[in-house]
Amino acid sequence: MSKIAFIGLGNMGGPMAANLAKAGHEVHAFDLSEQALETAREQGCNVASSAADAATGADFVISMLPAGKHVESLYVTGDSPLFSVIGKETLVIDSSTIDADTARRVAAVGAENGIGFIDAPVSGGVGGAQAGTLTFIVGGSEAQFAQAQPILDVMGKNIFHAGESGAGQIAKVCNNMLLSILMAGTCEALNMGVKNGLDPAVLSDIMKQSSGGNWALNVYNPYPGVMENAPASKGYQGGFQVDLMYKDLGLAMDVSQLSASPVPMGSAARSLFTLHKANGNGGLDFSSLMQFYQDKDA
Ligand code: NAD
Repeated sequence: MSKIAFIGLGNMGGPMAANLAKAGHEVHAFDLSEQALETAREQGCNVASSAADAATGADFVISMLPAGKHVESLYVTGDSPLFSVIGKETLVIDSSTIDADTARRVAAVGAENGIGFIDAPVSGGVGGAQAGTLTFIVGGSEAQFAQAQPILDVMGKNIFHAGESGAGQIAKVCNNMLLSILMAGTCEALNMGVKNGLDPAVLSDIMKQSSGGNWALNVYNPYPGVMENAPASKGYQGGFQVDLMYKDLGLAMDVSQLSASPVPMGSAARSLFTLHKANGNGGLDFSSLMQFYQDKDA
């Protein structure tokens, strides 16, 4: 069993850390939120007084933070950067979704200090984090991937090696751009059907079994009441915030710009999520885009 520091215990990090503790690992958890720390304690983690306290002597450090600036600050530029307290035998696994440039830059500073750092963003949502069925998409060397795999196996079901440092983040951003398009299209179709007299549950069942079937319909239906455990049926609380999807679509636009890849569908989805965020919905789950369509028709 390993000693694991876990930094960032939010919607995703909380259940991921809990699964590691449940599997018998010694988890030292830290978050800025007292409530997140309390939940981690209840779920078998040791609560640390700081990120540095959690990371000292750890075999693995895992971070699950909102964006690149948080990750860079934690390891390199903050008040007590972790690269100055963790040992050379420690492997850092950053599972936050951040820009590939920051991931590569932080990995390079780690390498200068003799410390391994891989990007390992995830897909599968809060449900996947709770169930331990996440998909991990890793950027790093073969040796680092092999070292991380037994730990990632505890939290996930599908573990992919996308390529060298940063490759995990590029693959993740491609996936989330597609997800935003699928969610927008699903909301659009459901709204049109309901406005024309269809029952949203019946329409969802039809489309799930037809050529429009997709992940949003299968496990994350955006229409309230259709799927009991989806954020749509809980006032769009929890889940994956509009603010985070907005961030990811910004990352996708950067990747498209750098590579001159046309992304007309991704750009349209980004505009929709930008308007939805500007209407004050940044803290809601991203499937609340459903309300954007419903409001337009009101
Ligand atoms: P969240 O906002 O629920 O959690 C982030 C946590 O980080 C918060 O608890 C916050 O207090 C903590 N934090 C911020 N700065 C910190 C610091 N310096 N030290 C310690 N803790 C700090 O976000 P989330 O939904 O858990 O997402 C985390 C990451 O995972 C994001 O990069 C997101 O894009 C990605 N992601 C989320 C989902 C999802 O469905 N929610 C799915 C895949 C990937």
